[in-house]
Amino acid sequence: MKAYDGMFIDGAWRPAAGPDVIEVVNPADEQVIATVPAGTAEDVDAAVRAARAALPAWAATPPPERAARLAALRDRLEARRDEIAETVTAELGAPLKLSQTVHAGVPIAVAGSYAELAATYSFEEKAGNSTILHEPVGVVGAITPWNYPLHQIVAKVAPALAAGCTVVVKPAEDTPLVARLFAETVQEAGIPAGVVNLVTGLGPVAGQALAEHPGVDLLSFTGSTAVGRRIGAIATGMVKKVALELGGKSANVILPGADLARAVNVGVANVMSNSGQTCSAWTRMLVHRDHYDEAVELAAAAAAKYGDRIGPLVNAAQQQRVRGYIEKGVAEGARLVAGGPESPREKGYYVSPTVFADVTPEMTIAQEEIFGPVLSVLRYDDEEEALRIANGTVYGLAGAVWAGSEEEAVAFACRMETGQVDINGGRFNPLAPFGGYKQSGVGRELGVHGLTEYLQTKSLQF
Ligand code: NAD
Repeated sequence: MKAYDGMFIDGAWRPAAGPDVIEVVNPADEQVIATVPAGTAEDVDAAVRAARAALPAWAATPPPERAARLAALRDRLEARRDEIAETVTAELGAPLKLSQTVHAGVPIAVAGSYAELAATYSFEEKAGNSTILHEPVGVVGAITPWNYPLHQIVAKVAPALAAGCTVVVKPAEDTPLVARLFAETVQEAGIPAGVVNLVTGLGPVAGQALAEHPGVDLLSFTGSTAVGRRIGAIATGMVKKVALELGGKSANVILPGADLARAVNVGVANVMSNSGQTCSAWTRMLVHRDHYDEAVELAAAAAAKYGDRIGPLVNAAQQQRVRGYIEKGVAEGARLVAGGPESPREKGYYVSPTVFADVTPEMTIAQEEIFGPVLSVLRYDDEEEALRIANGTVYGLAGAVWAGSEEEAVAFACRMETGQVDINGGRFNPLAPFGGYKQSGVGRELGVHGLTEYLQTKSLQF
């Protein structure tokens, strides 16, 4: 057990204002592995002041120099890839291979993409007799969740730095260790003091203080829709800019001409990855009536193979929540074909990979975000019904379409009310905008669209 000290404020580790600490638990064996300080409004205030003081110089730093610092940050993350992976495995419980490839690999790619974008983006353009300047929004408050703990931080900090903003990060309380490691890489990359600050702490204390701080110009939040709504209300009440990345209930639509086995196997892998703790997971599989029984059989077999390959959920509360949803699915009449509510191990917050068949669109498990390794397989009669079901939730974050031809899949995807659709499998692209339609959020992350969230425009007329 290691007791970490301090908050990263103004380029140095400074003692926290209060005595309280947060225990960090390894969800695979329920052992306390570390403590970090629980920040208060006082720590948040010091961090915001540091970010404000650092803003003029960083905003005035030429974009190629900001790009060079981001490239150095990417290099430092790459140099510490193994340590990042081990840290995420310890505090999130993710299998080490997933931590290496995704939890470490994706943020390295994203930091690299913003090093390039900072160097190539046109911060000035002409329109008729005007010159339009794209200027940094100012001080950014970034509140992040635990599910992809480093990615969520880098997806906010990297574009903010590329834009010329300064940042205060409040990471999730379950995963503060990789956030601390990130702050070290910021320092190692030669990013000036105060440009990136880190305050660990509880959501309703440190998170709330950051949301309410008058010195924050833009609040970028990723997390649950319930908290996002509150943050959005606070920010708009104070006329701050706000970006929200919230929950999802994404549909994986398998049209009749698709390669069924591939669509089902990739679909199950998508849901089970990171133990289902992915906001964009394809948690509803939609299959034509003629192929339904075969798809259910394939899905159950695929899920069974994940048995002991997936990690635990992040904490006991999430485990209870997910089990509660599984029990509700059974109670509402869905048919369990793999997994179930019982914990597969004595120690650790594990949930068995679970598949429900005979799920109807109005059931709780087909409407609410479960955030666990639980797949619902739904039946449709024709394309119009598939579309109604796909679009029939309050969310619209991601999705997938599988069809006999790319054209057919694209035509269906264009009618889906969702921010991102994978066509016949798709492939992760760090330059593709990511974000929600409907109640899945406001704004976009990644790529050039993620960069423009942190810019405001000024026009000069000649
Ligand atoms: P959460 O909303 O409980 O917490 C997210 C962050 O908000 C944490 O840092 C937390 O400390 C902070 N927070 C909590 N209460 C707060 C308050 N009152 N004021 C200010 N900050 C507060 O969510 P979670 O349980 O950590 O994450 C799971 C949720 O996140 C899921 O619903 C998931 O869909 C969503 N998510 C969305 C995306 C996306 O990009 N759309 C990505 C990952 C996770």
